[in-house]
Amino acid sequence: MTFNHLVLVGGGHSNVLLMRKWLMQPNLMPNHPITIISRDSHLVYSAKFPSVIANLISLEESLIDIASFAKSVKIAFIQEEVKNIEFKHNKIIFKNRPAISYSDLVINCGSRTKVSKEFEELVQKKIAFPH
Ligand SMILES: Cc1cc2nc3c(=O)[nH]c(=O)nc-3n(C[C@H](O)[C@H](O)[C@H](O)COP(=O)(O)OP(=O)(O)OC[C@H]3O[C@@H](n4cnc5c(N)ncnc54)[C@H](O)[C@@H]3O)c2cc1C
Repeated sequence: MTFNHLVLVGGGHSNVLLMRKWLMQPNLMPNHPITIISRDSHLVYSAKFPSVIANLISLEESLIDIASFAKSVKIAFIQEEVKNIEFKHNKIIFKNRPAISYSDLVINCGSRTKVSKEFEELVQKKIAFPH
């Protein structure tokens, strides 16, 4: 029996846009189980972020709920941090739950800005927002 399970790692802009595409064109969706994994429950939609900084909208108004979005496209959502991927065994290792297997994998887990000491306080006070 062939095992088919597409796993999307990261609930950020790339994978949420992919889900949106599938929502609008379901015929493009693979015909087997799909799971999306994200450490965060929500995505701050970057296009709305300037409006947050300008105090035109609240931070909450810029958020996309990944679980709800996934549910609307019938994709399973796992909120958990990926610790490792065993590419030889097609396994995803988590911080706090048992590993899962995949047949196909899409990795879009962004990047993190290293904040230098002189700007740390600005970030802590939410005056500056690194990405
Ligand atoms: C204000 C702003 C404006 C921008 N405008 C543009 C633009 O106009 N054009 C452009 O091309 N780019 C723009 N960018 C950059 C763009 O947002 C990023 O390049 C893009 O978000 C990267 O997409 P991504 O899906 O890989 O990661 P992200 O959107 O950063 O999402 C990362 C996801 O991966 C998850 N994740 C990370 N590590 C793990 C882990 N170990 N386990 C589980 N989950 C994990 C996170 O929880 C998150 O859900 C902008 C960014 C900002 C902040």
